[in-house]
Amino acid sequence: MSLEKAEALVIRQADFSESSRVVTFFSKEFGKFAAIAKGAKRLKGPFDAALDLLSACRIVFIKKSSGSLNLLTEARLISRFQPQSSGAQGSLGSLYGGYYIAELLNGLTEDFDPAPELYDLAFASLTSLSTAGCFPSTLIIHFEISLLHHIGLLPNLFDCSICGAPVELNSGYAHWVSQGGLLCQACRREEYSGASISAGSIEVLRRLTDASVELVSRLKLSQQQAEECHKLAVSSITHALGRRPSTLRYIQI
Ligand SMILES: [Zn+2]
Repeated sequence: MSLEKAEALVIRQADFSESSRVVTFFSKEFGKFAAIAKGAKRLKGPFDAALDLLSACRIVFIKKSSGSLNLLTEARLISRFQPQSSGAQGSLGSLYGGYYIAELLNGLTEDFDPAPELYDLAFASLTSLSTAGCFPSTLIIHFEISLLHHIGLLPNLFDCSICGAPVELNSGYAHWVSQGGLLCQACRREEYSGASISAGSIEVLRRLTDASVELVSRLKLSQQQAEECHKLAVSSITHALGRRPSTLRYIQI
């Protein structure tokens, strides 16, 4: 048992009792973990607005040994998630984009597995979704791709998984989901071929992998590129999760 401090995003909340909640955090220092927030449901509770979904906050908690719930003792708001109501793609794109980011962090990361760069990415993505004129689609695809890259599940975007021939311009490929790779036209087989993706969209994916959120937030992809890139990311995410993310149905690309 030890007293710890962290900077964290609130990625999930669940009622625990009449007055308490279990809050799941994604923190810079410790990665994901859940803690009980006693009194969090009271109107003038001890944590105020710091525990709203997707808020960034500074927290103090008692880290318990395995098996028992960590206990939150302090939470101070750093910034609140304020989705753009006048975003370039309508009012709800930013809001649902935020929920989707939270679900992916919760589903695809392990407890107490620190990933400060993933925290920075999530924080920057949520900040950009709160910025006027942002393109939620591009930010969402960038987050999907960067998260997959971080957890080692981004498909190989450079050559065919079977024959090894490099990806060529003006050619079409298939996403081989279970092997995390691409198949060229010659190697494509009915039994393991996934969705098609053009070489142009593969190039977009490669660029997005290394790009900063600042750069990406002003980038508008063509509709075909956005759809193909998102489809590839969702196939890999669904494969890793064992189900489709539940907030996905609200995401419009
Ligand atoms: Zn091939």
